[in-house]
This record gives sequence, C-alpha cells and structure tokens, in this order.
Amino acid sequence: MKVIYGGTFDPVHHGHLRLAVELRELLAVPQLSLVPCHIPPHRASPGAGSEDRLGLLRLAVAGEPGLVVDDRELSRGGASYSAETLRQLRALIGPDEPLVMVMGTDAFAGFDRWRDWQSIPELAHVLVVARPGEGLNPDGIPAGLLRTRGCRSVNELRSAPCGLFLYQHLPLLDISATAIRDRIREGRSPRYLLPDSVWQEIRQRGLYECPVHDDR
Ligand code: ATP
Repeated sequence: MKVIYGGTFDPVHHGHLRLAVELRELLAVPQLSLVPCHIPPHRASPGAGSEDRLGLLRLAVAGEPGLVVDDRELSRGGASYSAETLRQLRALIGPDEPLVMVMGTDAFAGFDRWRDWQSIPELAHVLVVARPGEGLNPDGIPAGLLRTRGCRSVNELRSAPCGLFLYQHLPLLDISATAIRDRIREGRSPRYLLPDSVWQEIRQRGLYECPVHDDR
C-alpha cells in the first residue's frame, strides 16, 4: 500500500508531522510520503516559495525513516493538481497496489472543485481525517461520496487498489500554519509548534517576514 499526504506545508508543523506518524501506524506502512504542492490551485499564494517549503519539510523529516518527501509536484511545475500526481504514482506502482491519498476535512470540503476530481477515485482511495470545527455540508458532493463510497476500516482499503473513502478520527494537535505565519510576522515566538530545525531555518532565510536580527 502506498500512502501520500499532500499539502502546502507553509510551513510544515507538528500538527502535520504527528498526523503523518499516526497515519503510518494506522495504515501499517513502512513509509508515508509527504507531497508538498508547487502552486496550489485552490488557495492564496503561499507565504514561502515552493523550494523553501520543500527545504523546510526535508529538514523536518530528517532522521525519521518512516516519513519521506516526494517533490514530484515541484519537478512537474505548473499548478499542482492531485489527479495528475495520482496518475503519475499509479503509473509507477502498477494497477493493483492500493494507493491512498490523505487529507483533512477542510481540504476534502472542496473536493468537488478540484480539477478532474471524478478521476481521483479511479486512481486512489481517499482517507479523510476529521478535523474539529471543520464540518462537511451534508448536502454537498464530498459528504455524498462518504455515504455512497465510504468504507469503515483500513482493511477494506487493502482489499482494492482504489475507489473507497474512509472517514477517520485520529488524535490531532491544534496547530495551523496560518497561526504560525501570523506569530512570526508579529514578532511572537512559534517555538514548540514546529521543529526547532525548521524555525531556525526560517530565521536564517528570513522567511514569512521574519524580522531581521531576530533572536527569539
Ligand atoms: P494553513 O493554515 O496555511 O491553511 P495548514 O496548517 O492547514 O495550513 P496545509 O498545508 O494547508 O496546513 O494542510 C495540509 C493538510 O494537513 C490538509 O489536509 C490539512 O487538513 C492537514 N492539517 C493541517 N493542520 C493539521 C493539524 N494540526 N492536524 C492534522 N492535520 C492537519
């Protein structure tokens, strides 16, 4: 089974990293791939460039062999469409291996606005992680997919290469990249919300409008 967890990672934080560890254990896979997007089609431009976000993500997972970074969306260039990423991965792993794409309810709420979203279940399973305060419109297409194509267990995901939706509760940390960016811009400390190595690199590169000569 191959598992990918995509995001802007602007910047990566302990909320993302803890979730990645929980997912790896839940799905019992040796490795989980974190896939930073290059240009997100459905949200404002990130606070940091894709190469910087990729560099921070690599620093964050250094020394954790269970988490790997897949930079294919940067290499591909252009807007980062998940359907295209999944198509590339499916071609790599062949037709039979289960492929799972993970996202939080906030991301899944806009699933039916993604380019070519109908092809996604033909390529992969979708694992939706419940995020507090992020409900789905019960009349919307995403909630409908959970009802009509939903499954109840990880074992079911193993039984087919693609096509199922699993809604999963996991322990989550209440951390968002937006709150981290705000703190940095306002001259407040983001320490303990993200790895020290990442925070150090942000200061060194002066990312997120980090005040110069910052000695936080
Ligand atoms: P922003 O605040 O800029 O929107 P974010 O912290 O939500 O960023 P993203 O890179 O947009 O991070 O999120 C990537 C994926 O990680 C999404 O599917 C999102 O639901 C999930 N995610 C973000 N923060 C957390 C968290 N604290 N715990 C679990 N999942 C998270």
